Amino acid sequence: MRPAHAIIDLAAIRHNYSVAKSRAPKARAIAIIKANGYGHGAVDVSKTLSPIADGFGVACIEEALELRESGISNPILLLEGIFDPDELPLVDKYRLSIAISTQRQLNWLLESTLKQPIDVFLKIDSGMHRLGIEPQDTCETYTKLSASPRVKNIVLMTHFARADEPDQPTTNNQLERFNQAIKGIDAPCTLSNSAGTLVHPNTHQQFIRPGIMLYGATPLGHNHKTDILLKPAMSLRSAIFSIRDLEAGEAIGYAGRYICDRPTRVGVVAIGYADGYPREAVDGTPVSIDGHRSRIIGKVSMDMITVDLTDLPHIKEGAPVELWGNDVRANEVADCCDTISYTLFTGVTRRVPLRYINHNS
Ligand SMILES: *Cc1c(COP(=O)(O)O)cnc(C)c1O
Repeated sequence: MRPAHAIIDLAAIRHNYSVAKSRAPKARAIAIIKANGYGHGAVDVSKTLSPIADGFGVACIEEALELRESGISNPILLLEGIFDPDELPLVDKYRLSIAISTQRQLNWLLESTLKQPIDVFLKIDSGMHRLGIEPQDTCETYTKLSASPRVKNIVLMTHFARADEPDQPTTNNQLERFNQAIKGIDAPCTLSNSAGTLVHPNTHQQFIRPGIMLYGATPLGHNHKTDILLKPAMSLRSAIFSIRDLEAGEAIGYAGRYICDRPTRVGVVAIGYADGYPREAVDGTPVSIDGHRSRIIGKVSMDMITVDLTDLPHIKEGAPVELWGNDVRANEVADCCDTISYTLFTGVTRRVPLRYINHNS
């Protein structure tokens, strides 16, 4: 069998959820598991969290139905609401909560026929300028929703553009705009993503929405002090399957990007960009070889990468390799690929089998 695989540590995910709860002890925490649980497998992640999670957040109804069909009964929020009024009978049948971010979504709901009222998260644009109603329309929209027999509870919601940059005033400005918009309304609120949960306690309010932190990567970047609070949930692994010795001056791989500056022992690892290992990885991107840190030399191929074994003479063909996980943090790899941990996790492809450990006892 090809050795590329990912170990998913379910205990780490439960631990990280508890960290989110302990950062915001008065809030309920909606575990964000959109995009197949950020690549970790939404069904397995939701099953391990379901005894402790106050709710789950997904991007769309397809993702919600997958959870309901596998037996998840916790509240589920569609973070982007519905894309078409056809979805409302399913929202009704599967008891989903929806975000309302546009006038169109509002009208669909108000004009619908639902058997039972649903919970609505009214999203207000406090400055990110992507989704949400205009702040000045908040009171009017809230009044319409509260008067509707389709609506049970209403939660006021907004989303931050730069909560992962604690030195920027943007988050506090958004908070102020949000508070101004909801003045006079007595309803629960939800503002914080992982970064808000970790470093903006003034934004916690009644519901937090942690995503990336559940998977053990801080959104605040490698070496941020919040990193050590979290346990990496995914360990992407493979193995060395060929080793050769090259003279100084020889080039490795496509385009000969890496030229050996000394006699070099090169290992070939069975993982590549078709597995989701980023092609953008530069020479020097860290990898862990049987627990020893080394680096990528040469371009990432579709099915393989090449690594430097010169200082690891004891490493033999078959040695295990970790691409990211506990020895090499996803944030470190992301920094070498001009990306963020989110794209690494969600980019792992179906060629990589996920193996789960530490199920609920
Ligand atoms: C994805 C998402 C989150 C979670 O964000 P993280 O940065 O992963 O914590 C929270 N709220 C909304 C609306 C989202 O779409």
